[in-house]
Amino acid sequence: MITRRDALKKTALSAAAVSLVTLPGTMIAQAPAAPTGPFKLPALPYALDALEPHIDAKTMEIHHGRHHQAYITNLNKAVASDAKLSATSLDELIRRLDEVPEAVRTAVRNNGGGHYNHSLFWQTMKKNGGGTPKGALGAAIDRKFGSFDKFKEEFSGAAMKVFGSGWAWLILEENVLKVVSSPNQDVPFAHGKYPLLGLDVWEHAYYLKYQNKRVDYVSAFFNVINWDTVASRFDKPEL
Ligand code: MN
Repeated sequence: MITRRDALKKTALSAAAVSLVTLPGTMIAQAPAAPTGPFKLPALPYALDALEPHIDAKTMEIHHGRHHQAYITNLNKAVASDAKLSATSLDELIRRLDEVPEAVRTAVRNNGGGHYNHSLFWQTMKKNGGGTPKGALGAAIDRKFGSFDKFKEEFSGAAMKVFGSGWAWLILEENVLKVVSSPNQDVPFAHGKYPLLGLDVWEHAYYLKYQNKRVDYVSAFFNVINWDTVASRFDKPEL
């Protein structure tokens, strides 16, 4: 039973709620709406401090929570006004960048690339990672580069040679392993190319802990690589 008192209370509350919305003088300042869009920040598959001391928690917090989030926010903005783009997967956006309308192509290239690269980056690291890859990937690295150490040397060299911001990569190209680098957030992910392992050498990835010593950061990365993830990409590439 609704008593008269309850009914009055309800009416008063409703009236109050309406007045907040309808009377400009009583409007409450609202927090900006949460960013919406098809793309969302994936959770890290480990704690922020899991990669210590090689990659510090503060760097992970800012890198994942702010830099990666910014790529996603800007990607969502770029596709927001286009229903077709909004419904297209990230992989397709990157692979078929030529078909993205010119007005937003650069934004999709940079921010879609940033989203893809960072999503992969987090997955290819883990607590107590490192060591050497086993199985088919290990054998293929030995065959292609001579030894794991030779591969490490070539990959590290590519990471050191990136001028400005970019990434060093181990990729499959036409089913052959290759070490390459890319500028900015470009993804080596088209025309038969498939990224297996990428190292972010933008300064935001290492400057808090390593400052100008990129070489120490590159060397430390080898202590956190999740070779299981890399090997499974090698075993089932999406070429
Ligand atoms: Mn980054």
